[in-house]
Amino acid sequence: MFPPRADNCPNPDCEGDELAQVGLSRRGTLWSFTENRYAPPPPYPAPDPFEPFAVAAVELAEEGLIVLGKVVDGTLAADLRVGMAMELATMVLYVDDDGIERIVYAWKTADAGSAEEPADSSEGGLA
Ligand SMILES: [Zn+2]
Repeated sequence: MFPPRADNCPNPDCEGDELAQVGLSRRGTLWSFTENRYAPPPPYPAPDPFEPFAVAAVELAEEGLIVLGKVVDGTLAADLRVGMAMELATMVLYVDDDGIERIVYAWKTADAGSAEEPADSSEGGLA
């Protein structure tokens, strides 16, 4: 769970104080997306010169939760369509001053053939 919580449930209607770690689906369908064309402010690291990146909200296959995340480098809004199959990946966010790669989770379009066919693009997407 992120951000980490000690003993409080994030649901305001819940009195519970016990939390459990639960594994979530690594796959889902693209629910919405956008493209960030402005460098985020510090302390968030951004390459200089700044490169636009896509942000995706993905509806998890099993749970129906919608999880927002960055999309891997090289995939921009023009490459995305609502309803596409997406899967969890990792990517290097930046390399720190000691030369260590700092890794984050990111969404990527799912490999063709390993999931149901995405909806026919002739239906018209946002992209
Ligand atoms: Zn609760």
